Amino acid sequence: MNATYLIEFVREIYKTNEFIPLHAPTFKGNEKAYVMETIESTFVSSVGKFVDDFERNIEAYTGTAKAVATVNGTAALHTALYMADVQRGDLVITQALTFVATCNALYHMGAEPIFVDVSPISLGLCPKAVDSFLCEYAEVTDAGCIHKKTGKRIKAVVPMHTFGHPVELDELVAVCVKWGLVLVEDAAESLGSFYKDKHTGTIGDVGALSFNGNKIITTGGGGIVLCKNREFGARTKHVTTTAKVPHAYEFFHDEPGFNYRMPNLNAALGCAQLELIDQYLRQKRQLAECYREFFKETDVQFVTEPNYAKSNYWLNAIICPDKKSREGIILGTNGSGVMTRPIWKLMHRLPMFENAIRDDLTYSEHIEAHLINLPSTPVVINS
Ligand SMILES: *Cc1c(COP(=O)(O)O)cnc(C)c1O
Repeated sequence: MNATYLIEFVREIYKTNEFIPLHAPTFKGNEKAYVMETIESTFVSSVGKFVDDFERNIEAYTGTAKAVATVNGTAALHTALYMADVQRGDLVITQALTFVATCNALYHMGAEPIFVDVSPISLGLCPKAVDSFLCEYAEVTDAGCIHKKTGKRIKAVVPMHTFGHPVELDELVAVCVKWGLVLVEDAAESLGSFYKDKHTGTIGDVGALSFNGNKIITTGGGGIVLCKNREFGARTKHVTTTAKVPHAYEFFHDEPGFNYRMPNLNAALGCAQLELIDQYLRQKRQLAECYREFFKETDVQFVTEPNYAKSNYWLNAIICPDKKSREGIILGTNGSGVMTRPIWKLMHRLPMFENAIRDDLTYSEHIEAHLINLPSTPVVINS
């Protein structure tokens, strides 16, 4: 694949000669009106009707029992792990191929990651690899699932739906049940992605979404904890709001809480953005289809959704045949104002996770060396 053809193709799609970012938000709905409403009402902070509306609308859209809005996706994950009862000294199985927020959240619970390989089907955590790691290195005791070498408890499994492509959830749920592990879904990239007929983030014990500026919809900064029942949801809300026991004037807090509430100002933006999600999803599928067609007869492989899933195609991606061709495309496109980028450095290459326990990561390393993300902002395509 030659960078020049790709640059021409992307410019034709976005119909511009200016800089083309990887993913930019667009505000063409009720964003201004709703945000202005919060300012005029003075309810810009942690109380207000848009926070309640946004949570309810996300519940309706994802089919979850209770959604709890937070300041960002990392905070949602941190809360989810707290609610999953991850304790200081626990081990948590996750993928090395992820954005750093996944691991930061468990680090700040005092837990340590175990890195297991990703699946070629989803680019997310591989259920077979998790099970075979556990078969070799773990045992189930009265104290839970124990990592034999360190004696530490393995508490949870945190898969991430890479670029919006759902992981093999039925298989992963089965592995978690077999080993007595909690399943926490990092669905930060996958709002609008469905595993079979269920929304990602609602299948595990608890899930987290992100509404950062580069995600499919944005609240400026924001996240949501997806809770499976009202009771769990009520406690999640409680811990994200300083765990204050409701009272007219007394301050009594019954556990170490977070101050992770999403402000009304951000929720207003979110309500307007969520009204546009079907349009964004349609445009992103159409864009992905154009890329797929374009790369069909070439030496690069366009990443498509697994056959059991409907992906939001948050970030389009290609896998190059070798490192040299990847470098040519990255340098060529970025040099011409078309933004592309390699995938994140694998987590065990970062100083704070370099000593983490890790399994064979052959496929993660292959992806790290060969993948490129392509411009993915939703756009109207004339066919
Ligand atoms: C975006 C993202 C998050 C959360 O990010 P915030 O910026 O804190 O909202 C978490 N995990 C992954 C994989 C992400 O891509």
